[in-house]
Amino acid sequence: MTMHQLTIHEAHELLKAKQLSSVELTKASLGRIHQVEPEVRALVTITDELALKQAQKADELIAAGDISPLTGIPVLIKDNMCTKGTKTTCSSKMLENFVPPYNATVVEKLNACSVVIIGKANMDEFAMGSSTENSALFTTHNPWDLSRVPGGSSGGSAAAVAASETIYALGSDTGGSIRQPAGFCSVTGLKPTYGRVSRYGLVAFASSLDQIGPLTQDVTDCALVLNAIAGYDPRDSTSVPYPTPDYTQCLTANIKGLHIGVPKEYFVEGMQTEVATAMRAAINKLEELGATIDWEVSLPHTPYALAVYYIIAPSEASANLARYDGVKYGYSCQDADSMWEAMEKTRQHGFGAEVKRRIMLGTYALSAGYYDAYYLKAQKVRTLIRQEFDQAFEKFDALVTPTSPTVPFKIGERVDDPLQMYLSDVCTLPINIAGVPAISIPAGFANGLPIGMQIIGKPFSEETILKIAHAYQQATDWHKKKPEI
Ligand code: GLN
Repeated sequence: MTMHQLTIHEAHELLKAKQLSSVELTKASLGRIHQVEPEVRALVTITDELALKQAQKADELIAAGDISPLTGIPVLIKDNMCTKGTKTTCSSKMLENFVPPYNATVVEKLNACSVVIIGKANMDEFAMGSSTENSALFTTHNPWDLSRVPGGSSGGSAAAVAASETIYALGSDTGGSIRQPAGFCSVTGLKPTYGRVSRYGLVAFASSLDQIGPLTQDVTDCALVLNAIAGYDPRDSTSVPYPTPDYTQCLTANIKGLHIGVPKEYFVEGMQTEVATAMRAAINKLEELGATIDWEVSLPHTPYALAVYYIIAPSEASANLARYDGVKYGYSCQDADSMWEAMEKTRQHGFGAEVKRRIMLGTYALSAGYYDAYYLKAQKVRTLIRQEFDQAFEKFDALVTPTSPTVPFKIGERVDDPLQMYLSDVCTLPINIAGVPAISIPAGFANGLPIGMQIIGKPFSEETILKIAHAYQQATDWHKKKPEI
C-alpha cells in the first residue's frame, strides 16, 4: 500500500506516531492527482498552495500534541460548497469565476479540525444529474473503466476517492448524488438524515431535499467525518438541535438481533441480473452475521417517488436559481440594450441545458392553474411515501436495497435520454423524499464494474446503518479493492 491509499484512520495512527507528516501525506495526494487527473478529471480546482500551507500548520499542531482524527489529512470538497477565497463553480458557467467571501459551515468545521483541503470536485451543473456529464466544464471518468461515468452529481468526489487522489471527500445528495456515485465507484457514501448536517454555504438546489455527507474508503472513516460535520447550526434553520453522538462507538461488528427488511419494489424492472444476484449474496451475508431478514417487505408507493421528485426538486430549483440574474454575482452578459435583455441573456448563456430544463419544469409545476395538479399533488404523495417508511421502521431497524439498478453506464449512453438518466436514481430518490439517512457501500462487481448496496435507517439512526455497514465490511473485502489506474 502506498501513502496516498491510506484511510483516514490509518493515516491518523501514522501521523500521531510521527511516522508520517501531513506535508508528506499531502504531497503524496497531490502527486497522485497530477499523475491520474489527465485521465480521471475529477477536480475542478487543485489548491496545491493552500494545501501545503495547511499541512505545515497541521504538522506544527501535531508536534505540539494537538491532534484530532482528521488533523493533517487531505480532503476534497464538492464544488457546490463555499470555500472562502477559493473558486466555487458548481461546475457551471454561471459561477465559473465566483470566489465566495465566506466558508460553508462544513468547511469551517473541517478547518477547525485542521484538515488539508486539496481541491474542489467536479459535479453535474448545480448538482443536477447522475453522471457528471452535465458539468459545464468537463466530464469525469470512472476510474474502474475510463469509458464509463462515475455517477453523479458528486461524481468528482467519488471518482477521486476511488482513484486515491484524496483520502476522502464531501458530497451533497438531493436525490442520490452521494450514494449513486459511491456505488458506481465502489466507495462508501453516506447521506445523513435531513437536518443532521448544516447546509449553510451549500449552493441550494432543492432545499427540502439537499443534504451534505462524506465519501470515504470505509465505514470507520465515514463515522469519523460525520463526527466532524454533524450538528446544529443556527445559520441553517433546518438543522436540528440534537446532540451529536460519537459515531465510531457503534462500530462493533455485532448485528445480532437486528431486523432488516428488503423492500421488493426496489428490485425494479430493468435491473441488471448481476446487480440482483450480488444484492442477494450481500443480504445473505448480513443474515449470516446474525441479522434477521424479511425478504417480502412492500413499500407500495415507491413507484411514484420518481414522479414526485421530478416535480418537487425542479420546483424548488426554479425558485433557488432565480437569484442568478447577472446583477449581484456570477456570470453577467453585458451585450444587451435593456435590463431585461441582459438578464435573459445571462440566464440563456450561463445555464446549461439540463439546468434550463429543470427551471422550466419547476416554473410550470408552480404556475397558477397547475400548482394544485402538480406541486400540491406531489407534496401529498410525498407524505404518503414518508408515512410508508415510518410504518416500515416500526418493524425494522433498517431496510436494504441496491443503490442503483445497473452498473456504471458508458459516457454518452444516456445524455440524449433524460428519462433513462432519471431512472438511474430510482433506488435513491425515495430516501430524500422521506428525509431518512442511507449509506451506500461496495457489495461486489460485475465484469469488473462496481455494485453498491444501500442501507436505509430511521431518522437520526445513522448509528444503526453505520453499524450494519461496518459489520458487512468486517466480513468482506469489496471496499478494499482499488482500480488499476
Ligand atoms: N440525479 C438526481 C438529479 O438529477 C439527483 C441529484 C442530486 O442528488 N443532487 O436531480
